[in-house]
Amino acid sequence: MKHFSLLLLGACPLLAADIATRDALFAKSTEEMFPALVEIRRDIHSHPELSNEEVRTAALVAKKLTELGLEVKTGVAKHGVVALLKGSSAGPCVAVRADMDALPIKELRSVPYRSQNPGVMHACGHDVHVTCALGLAELLSKHRDQVHGSVKFLFQPAEEAMPATFKGDWGAKLMVAEGVMENPKPVAVFGLHTTALVQPADTTDDGVHYLKAGQIGFTPGIDNANSDRFHIIIRGKMAHGSTPHKGVDAIAVSAEAIMALQMIKSRQTNTRQPLVISIGTISGGDRENIIAEKVELGGTVRTYDSAFRDGVIEQMHRILKGITDAHGASYEMEYRKTYPSILNDPKLVEATLPSFQRLFGAENVVKLIPGMGGEDFSFFAQVVPGFYFRIGVANEEKGITAGGHTPMFDCDEESIKTGVQALAAAVCDRLDAK
Ligand SMILES: [Zn+2]
Ligand SMILES: [Zn+2]
Repeated sequence: MKHFSLLLLGACPLLAADIATRDALFAKSTEEMFPALVEIRRDIHSHPELSNEEVRTAALVAKKLTELGLEVKTGVAKHGVVALLKGSSAGPCVAVRADMDALPIKELRSVPYRSQNPGVMHACGHDVHVTCALGLAELLSKHRDQVHGSVKFLFQPAEEAMPATFKGDWGAKLMVAEGVMENPKPVAVFGLHTTALVQPADTTDDGVHYLKAGQIGFTPGIDNANSDRFHIIIRGKMAHGSTPHKGVDAIAVSAEAIMALQMIKSRQTNTRQPLVISIGTISGGDRENIIAEKVELGGTVRTYDSAFRDGVIEQMHRILKGITDAHGASYEMEYRKTYPSILNDPKLVEATLPSFQRLFGAENVVKLIPGMGGEDFSFFAQVVPGFYFRIGVANEEKGITAGGHTPMFDCDEESIKTGVQALAAAVCDRLDAK
């Protein structure tokens, strides 16, 4: 029975000849739209906006979608835009997500479309995500007869947001809370992400592997990590620097705590469970000759398994309590479970991969080892089956080789075509599978 339902989802009622015709139609239209899409991408890239400040980007998106005749809703989860495209015949709904925000990074690559917003940069390729989704909207608007159901577009704000700057919910979680996954409820959600550097599943070395423009990367189950943040305060007692015995040195205690927290990964957890505990910030003390009363530490924890994550949090508390108790200090820890890991629906992946292989060649659809990054697409994929895949953006000849979240990051714009066609095939095939 299980196999039977798998086959049903994977089966496409369109004949092979119809699919080939549609592929050719979509490829031709994508090629025609490409120069205008590059202009859109460069416009967005040169005007990057930080999380929850995506006013200009959202306006551009809403204008384009309205011109295409979609039902458009703005102001979702602050600056999110949601739109519905109705096909020529009734059927299920499939959702596509594109995140819109940029990062607080100074762009160093010298390109005509470089950021005009000082210190802010599309260093995660969300400019390309928006462009691909707008390209998809235009493509399917032109070919509504190929859309057997409806397509919901989720243009999302604040994917890169940090809990240090935002209290409450934001981004995908807030969009879900505001009801974007209802009326109509999609049967599946797709999201893509630009990626230059990857670890293919058939490699074991830690060397450089590019995902090039024209290639697709995927993981069939867990795609990335539970991505959490923590803030620790270690409190001691102030004293003169010459009489440390009269105080409790929060700096010395925090040094011990930092080292001991690394023992969780190296000595206290199953080595087969991926885990990262990183302290990214530390501050404390008032001046050289005063024993510090307070040290603050900020960091992130990455895991795949949620029960395992709960165990790690307990161990962190135990270590912090033990060390601070031992030295007469105290601690507080605010731990925030930020983004759950993305679980790509195995059946949806299995049903979608043939479309990608058909379009780009099996050799260009690359299975990847999941990383320890975080992504809030997971909140959509918790509601309905989801598939979050990568589009390659590297191109060594063009000098596009930097990883995301770095000042030299860029995307080979040829990847826009891959993104539009991959989304179009994924959406239409899923709609046709009923
Ligand atoms: Zn990012
Ligand atoms: Zn991103």
